[in-house]
Amino acid sequence: MTKNCPIVSIFIPFLNHPFTKKSMFNLILFGPPGSGKGTQSEKLIQQYGLKHLSTGDLLRSEIAQQTPLGKEAQQYMDQGQLVPDAVVIGMISSAIDQHAGVKGFLFDGFPRTAAQAAALDQLLEAKNTSISLMLALEVSEPELVQRLMKRGETSGRSDDTNEQIISARITEYHNKTTAVADYYRQFDKVKMVQGEGSIDEIFQGLCKEINDKL
Ligand code: AMP
Repeated sequence: MTKNCPIVSIFIPFLNHPFTKKSMFNLILFGPPGSGKGTQSEKLIQQYGLKHLSTGDLLRSEIAQQTPLGKEAQQYMDQGQLVPDAVVIGMISSAIDQHAGVKGFLFDGFPRTAAQAAALDQLLEAKNTSISLMLALEVSEPELVQRLMKRGETSGRSDDTNEQIISARITEYHNKTTAVADYYRQFDKVKMVQGEGSIDEIFQGLCKEINDKL
């Protein structure tokens, strides 16, 4: 049918792409350590074709390669503290540059401070785009500790096995990271999503908010 209609065939490819360059969809998956961001990110990138950028994963890869950045970051991560803003912002900036032309990004574990949020806005603005939505997973504190201890049995992550480090990470979240939600709230970009239940139930809750926004 489109073969017989040149005008339609010119426009159809654009109509089939919900995220054109101008309308990239950039999502932040937000929530405390253990709230399921990693698990849900995997499902979301498959569903929506976004590029997953997890600062925790990027930092662990720097540590595995024993780069100077990795060595610096490790000192903080081993104590459950946040890595300095300048280190993380530089790292995410090059990751964004390395993936020009994607439909959108899914930021996982970033931004974690108000300064990181402001820096991210500038990085995206330089690419003529912005954050579309922040989805915040809500999980109670006892459930978080339980999940992280359980994950520590298999993840091989030293920061998941020690209860003191887990509690330091949750304290860092309350002290520095909850400010990030306030930052995006002023632009009306935050939606809270129930983070307890089955993986699929939580995923459906996230998809509903994304689909409402598309
Ligand atoms: P995650 O895998 O997101 O739980 O991160 C593990 C650790 O990496 C955190 O406890 C921090 O020490 C560090 N980290 C990850 N992302 C950031 C970030 N955006 N800012 C500062 N530190 C980070």
